[in-house]
Amino acid sequence: MAALKILQQLARKHGTPLFVADHDELRRNYAAFRKYLPRVQAYYAVKANPDPAIVKTLYQAGASFDVASMPEFMVVHRYIKDLPAKQRQDWIWDKIIYANPIKANETLAELDQYKALVTYDNFEEIKKIKQYAPNSGLVLRLKVPNTGAMVELSSKFGAASGEAVDLILAADRAGLVVEGLSFHVGSQTTNFENYVQAINLAAGVYKEAKDRGYAKMNLLDIGGGFPAPYDESVQPFRTLARKINAELDRLFPRNIQILAEPGRFLVATAGTAVSKIIGKAVRDGKLCYYIDDGVYHTFSGIIFDHCRYRLNAFKKGPKRICTVFGPTCDALDVVSLAEELPENLERGDLLYSKNIGAYSVASSTPFNGFPPAKVVHINQKELS
Ligand SMILES: *Cc1c(COP(=O)(O)O)cnc(C)c1O
Repeated sequence: MAALKILQQLARKHGTPLFVADHDELRRNYAAFRKYLPRVQAYYAVKANPDPAIVKTLYQAGASFDVASMPEFMVVHRYIKDLPAKQRQDWIWDKIIYANPIKANETLAELDQYKALVTYDNFEEIKKIKQYAPNSGLVLRLKVPNTGAMVELSSKFGAASGEAVDLILAADRAGLVVEGLSFHVGSQTTNFENYVQAINLAAGVYKEAKDRGYAKMNLLDIGGGFPAPYDESVQPFRTLARKINAELDRLFPRNIQILAEPGRFLVATAGTAVSKIIGKAVRDGKLCYYIDDGVYHTFSGIIFDHCRYRLNAFKKGPKRICTVFGPTCDALDVVSLAEELPENLERGDLLYSKNIGAYSVASSTPFNGFPPAKVVHINQKELS
C-alpha cells in the first residue's frame, strides 16, 4: 500500500473519492505467485479489476489473462495488438482463456477468429461451440467442493465428475478438441483442502478419459480463489502453494501445462480507497459518519463480494465505535456498522481502506448520481 503521506497528497491533488492502484504491489504479487508456484502460469482474472493499466502492468510482468466477456477480451486484445512487434509475445492460446462456461451465440461467433481457449461444462454448449466457434480449444470446467470459500461458485458452474468424461467424448465426437480441465474452488478460499481435493478429482477425470480412449488433454487449469491477506487469519500463500505443488507433482506429469486464474490475489492489496467525511450525526446514541464513497461505488464488494473493509483515519484521537454510511439516499448504503474511529473527526477529514483492489471499482455503479472514485495509478513503469 502507498504510504499514508502519499495517499493524503493524492487526495489533495485529485479530490475524493479516490482509488489508488499501486503497480509495485501488482508486480510483487505476480512475482510471489510465480515464485511459490513455479509450474503454474498465471492468467489474471480480469473481472477482479479490468483497468487497462493493470492489465498492461501484469502483461509486462509476464501474466496471461482469464476473461469472461467480449469487452474483457477486448481490453486484453486491444493492448496486445497495439504493442510494438518486439514486445508482442506469441499469443493467443497461451495468453487468453475465455473462462465463462456459458457463452452467447454472438460471443462465440466473434471469438472464433481468435482461436481462443474456452471453457464449457454441459452438452448444449458443445453444440453451440461446434456451430459458432469450432476453431476454439475446449477446457472442461469441473464442479469441485467450495467449502469455506468467501464466495461460492460451484452451484452455478461445473460438470459433475460422473458426467465429465461423457462431456469430453461428446466434444471429441463433434470434432472439437478438448485441451484440458479446469475448476474453481471458490473465491477467497482459506480452506486449502479444496485445492487438494480438486486436483485429485481432476487427476481422476484425466485418467478415466485416457482409459476410455481420449488422450489429447495437455493442460490443467487450477482456477482462482487464492486468498488475499485481508487479516491475520489467512494463512500465508506459501503454505497453500506447498500443498498445491505437492499434489501437482504427484499427480500430473511434467509435460502437462498448468495454469491458474488468480484475480483477487494479484490485485486486492494493490488498491487503496480514500474517502472524505461529508457529514456527522448522532443517531440512537451512536456516532455516525457519512462519507463520499459507499456500497454502490468503491465499497460494492461489501454487497457483491461478501467482503469487509476496515476504515482508518489519518487523524489521531480518542476512539469510539462508529457507524459509517455511504453518500446515497439508500439505507442499504452502509459501509460499516461498527468501526473504531476517532470521535473527533470533522467534515473534510479523510479515511482510507486498504486491500480494496479486487471486486471494488469493477462493480461500482453510477447510482443516485454519485460519480465513481477517480482512479490514480502510482509506480507505473514504461517498458521501452
Ligand atoms: C472470478 C473468477 C476467477 C478469479 O477468482 P479469484 O477468486 O478472484 O482468484 C477465476 N476464474 C474464474 C472462472 C472466475 O469466475
